[in-house]
Amino acid sequence: MRINTRLAERLKKINPSSTLALTSKAKRLKSEGKDIISLAAGEPDFDTPDFIKDAGILAIKSGFTKYTPTTGTPDLKRVISEKFKKDNLLEYRPEQIVVSCGAKHSIFNALMVLLDRGDEVLIPNPYWVSYPEMVNLCEATPCFIKTQKINNFKLTAEDIETYSGRKTKLLILNSPANPTGSVYSQDELKAIAQICAKKKIFVLSDEIYEKIIYDNLRHVSIGSLGSDIYDLTITVNGVSKSYSMTGWRIGYLGAPADISESISKLQDHSTSCPSSISQKAALAALSSPGEVTKQMCLEFQARRDHIMARLSRMPALSFIVPQGAFYIFCDITKTKLDSATFANRLLEETGVVVIPGGAFGRDDYVRMSFATSIDQIDKSIDKLEAWLKKI
Ligand code: PMP
Ligand code: GLU
Repeated sequence: MRINTRLAERLKKINPSSTLALTSKAKRLKSEGKDIISLAAGEPDFDTPDFIKDAGILAIKSGFTKYTPTTGTPDLKRVISEKFKKDNLLEYRPEQIVVSCGAKHSIFNALMVLLDRGDEVLIPNPYWVSYPEMVNLCEATPCFIKTQKINNFKLTAEDIETYSGRKTKLLILNSPANPTGSVYSQDELKAIAQICAKKKIFVLSDEIYEKIIYDNLRHVSIGSLGSDIYDLTITVNGVSKSYSMTGWRIGYLGAPADISESISKLQDHSTSCPSSISQKAALAALSSPGEVTKQMCLEFQARRDHIMARLSRMPALSFIVPQGAFYIFCDITKTKLDSATFANRLLEETGVVVIPGGAFGRDDYVRMSFATSIDQIDKSIDKLEAWLKKI
């Protein structure tokens, strides 16, 4: 008998993640032998470095395979606390740190403990696909702020003044940003921090792409810009992007103690600790001098320069220079196609996979990832170029 399941109301508004869906569709089509080139990847294409894998293997072999404290092992939390101090000028004591199953989980936890129904969350548009859905899952309300290409898609302090109201609880900031590659400067963050402190708006600062930053720019953590903003900031980071460890699922956050204590309770009753094995691997990654990350970043910068040089010869597309992360967000207005049609036709007619900008709130754009080899970039751009001439 087919039962008509009554699913929870809170799920009704939620869409599947198109970044994850398209990335796995590309992998599936490829494994079926189709001639597919994916510019969809939301993860570094490099293998996890051997010394990190070895730490995971050692954890298994030595029997480090049991529950750890919910918020992470003392060793890992100490190293994260030192990392925050050294790289981000942020003082988070170990008890202010929670290690979770990926930065996505850290963000979700933070939103779950901060948001009530009716609270509003400021989200600069374009945004990473999961932010609005997570806010919806918490039964709060996303409030989108459309940013301007001319300002490199960055939110300004004036925007916050204009769009915030009595119900505004939180701002989500992401620098370097997915999908645009924008990086906020210290002065821009200072202005944002000032207004958030004045209006008592919490800031969730998603810094997962911190280490993937180009042109000698310096990443700045908004929480380091004074005690008022520190008290309102939740700083999220992880090892997925900086150590090519997406599948290991380790993310972490630093927050005011009352927030991290609440997250600890939430995690007690939801996932418990993240994998003990992955924690050992993350400990090895974060205790290392960081050379692998620097090498990876140099390689990404060379690929970024290459893809930009190729795309800039196509009059149908335009873009801003990505200063971080590994995506290029292309304006497709001149093609007169919406982003889903563009992406579907490109896939069907050429085998090249890109992510429709609609997933990030901008239907006039598509996202291309350069987390793939120069050779694959060239092959896909050749196909894209020929296709654009035809349509
Ligand atoms: N934030 C942004 C902006 C991302 O692109 C990603 C990638 N999935 C994440 C957070 C989550 O990363 P993870 O859960 O793998 O740590
Ligand atoms: N963050 C990556 C992306 O935007 C990975 C996929 C996901 O977690 O959504 O493609």
